Amino acid sequence: MKEIWIYAEVREDRVNEVAYELLTRALDLKGKLEDSIISAVLMGRNIPDADKQELIKRGADRVYYVDNPLLKDFVVEPYSKVLIELINRYKPEIIIAPATTQGRTLMPYTAVRLQTGLTADCTGLDIDEAGNLLQTRPAIGGNVMATIRTSTRPQMATVRPHSTRPAPIDESREGEVIEVDVSLTEEDAPVKKLEYLKDKTQVVTVQDADIVVSGGRGIGRADNFKIVYRLAELLGGAVGASRDVVDRGWITYPHQVGLSGKTVNPKVYIALGISGSIQHLAGMQTSETIIAINKDPDAQIFRVSDLGIVGDLHEVVPVLIERLEALKNEI
Ligand SMILES: Cc1cc2nc3c(=O)[nH]c(=O)nc-3n(C[C@H](O)[C@H](O)[C@H](O)COP(=O)(O)OP(=O)(O)OC[C@H]3O[C@@H](n4cnc5c(N)ncnc54)[C@H](O)[C@@H]3O)c2cc1C
Repeated sequence: MKEIWIYAEVREDRVNEVAYELLTRALDLKGKLEDSIISAVLMGRNIPDADKQELIKRGADRVYYVDNPLLKDFVVEPYSKVLIELINRYKPEIIIAPATTQGRTLMPYTAVRLQTGLTADCTGLDIDEAGNLLQTRPAIGGNVMATIRTSTRPQMATVRPHSTRPAPIDESREGEVIEVDVSLTEEDAPVKKLEYLKDKTQVVTVQDADIVVSGGRGIGRADNFKIVYRLAELLGGAVGASRDVVDRGWITYPHQVGLSGKTVNPKVYIALGISGSIQHLAGMQTSETIIAINKDPDAQIFRVSDLGIVGDLHEVVPVLIERLEALKNEI
């Protein structure tokens, strides 16, 4: 039996949603890898049972759970020690983790100690005919997509958060939670977390927002971004952008959506004056509903849009803002 592992990241003592995205990937791999099962590796302190069950209902056949006071907060040394011990004990074939700060810290640290290969920041995973993991990621500044095979075991990869949707809950699914005892001493945790300070400069980031309103070159000039901000504010969303306008200095890099920017999958993505280049689509095409306003009826963005408005955004957006402001005043 080959085990496909996902690293179920924990934040503030709860399983982070990104773990359920990894289960979508793992379910796909399981369908292609004969005789395989999915296991989730969960570490922390007093993680609610409901979260372990949710991992099962969303696709895990097993949950390896390690509970220890020294695992209360993510610190790479004890986390890696536990992960290595589990790997040596259960010998998984594949391990995928999110390309978040945790995943990007834990996986390289662990891969070096195990002397095994790791592909970081994958956007695609597949299985070849021989049962090897195919790991696809942008390379050479995003100009090519490279597919990588690892000759060592386990095969390890981190996957871009928001590059797929979370696996849905299936109430009928069953699995087992295996509590594993791994001994840890204070010496295994030389670094202590004292405090966590949230960045308060950005109210909602593009990756966290349910609604993203993005502007592209069609906005015309930096000053016109104020209509993008106003529309986002009225909808309670965040402001995104194409790389073109970031390169022009109309807006800063953290707003950039796409291959060399952020990957987002909000409930609603509104593209204003964005042509829909392949690099932009790579960062937003999994959004639930895509709305585009573009004056060119042949713009690529309309190919992925659920709702398209062919028109001048400088005429359409002010009307939208006016209507939304009127609605807000009525409430
Ligand atoms: C390695 C690499 C990585 C890249 N990474 C990214 C990335 O992460 N994100 C990204 O976005 N791009 C990325 N790009 C750049 C990408 O190829 C495009 O150049 C870029 O996305 C174009 O941005 P745009 O759609 O704003 O501009 P354009 O392609 O110029 O499109 C502007 C659109 O606005 C429309 N328009 C103009 N005026 C109006 C108006 N008044 N009303 C309505 N519509 C109007 C036009 O019809 C047009 O469709 C990358 C490129 C490379 C080579």
